[in-house]
Amino acid sequence: MTEVGNGYTGRFAPSPTGPLHFGSLVTAVASYLDARQAGGRWLVRMEDLDPPREQAGAADTILRSLEAHALHWDGEVLYQSQRHDAYSRCLDRLLARRLAYHCQCRRRDIIAMGGVYDGRCRRRTEAFDGATAIRLKVDTGGGEPGPVITFTDLIQGSCSQQLAAAVGDFIIRRKDGLFAYQLAVVVDDIEQGITHIIRGSDLLDSTARQIFLFRLLGQAEPLYGHIAVVVNKRGQKLSKQTGAAALDDSRAGANMGAALRCLNLPPPAELHDAGAAILLQWALQRWRRDGLPAVMATDNPLS
Ligand code: GLU
Repeated sequence: MTEVGNGYTGRFAPSPTGPLHFGSLVTAVASYLDARQAGGRWLVRMEDLDPPREQAGAADTILRSLEAHALHWDGEVLYQSQRHDAYSRCLDRLLARRLAYHCQCRRRDIIAMGGVYDGRCRRRTEAFDGATAIRLKVDTGGGEPGPVITFTDLIQGSCSQQLAAAVGDFIIRRKDGLFAYQLAVVVDDIEQGITHIIRGSDLLDSTARQIFLFRLLGQAEPLYGHIAVVVNKRGQKLSKQTGAAALDDSRAGANMGAALRCLNLPPPAELHDAGAAILLQWALQRWRRDGLPAVMATDNPLS
């Protein structure tokens, strides 16, 4: 991979479960501004990993929306649906190193364990009948408490998670054969040479798992910054499930102005009717990570 952009490579990684909505626009704008202000590259990765949850045509619609909002990416879009070989190879390596294992426990078994998987299939000796999930060991067993993952989030500050207590051995390939987000995201962040990840704070809780996986794979983890997610009037994250509306690309300038207001960058009155590209240029000179609220209960100004 050619090294340009001060060694900074950022990315936006939408899941094509529906068209881009206002919440994902805010995330895309934040990661774009952070990368471009640093003179870095900004990549787009389509996380089409879970076909049952996806909507036909959504990937193309998302890309068209990004372009309509002047969020132009570098290089080719990477599609997770075309990366299955890489995920399989990674799984095989983890299984061969005995860092991962097969498991057939059901959701209700895990609820009965108190919600955190207790690792019982690690010790299983009898053969499995039927499909299995694959879990990653978060500790080496033998009564060791397992690692506490600590990191300094670029926006939220100091964070730590004791994986064994908080999540337990987690799934990296599902029982239905689909690769888990936690595995695919790390394999691809490595492949794309990502150095900085700016994304929504709903993923803060996944970060320790991802850092753990980077380290197991012998790779330095990127820097993470989690911006507060935009919520609707009921305090729910905007998403397809909570009924967030698709962005209207013909109002890109107004959408961009609203996204910048969420990011504490309210455009001046003279830019009221400006297009998305002009607003982004204006914001590039003003973007500051420390200007963001650590907790943002921003109402969707478009709702
Ligand atoms: N595809 C994930 C989502 O849309 C984001 C993954 C990430 O940024 O790490 O929520």
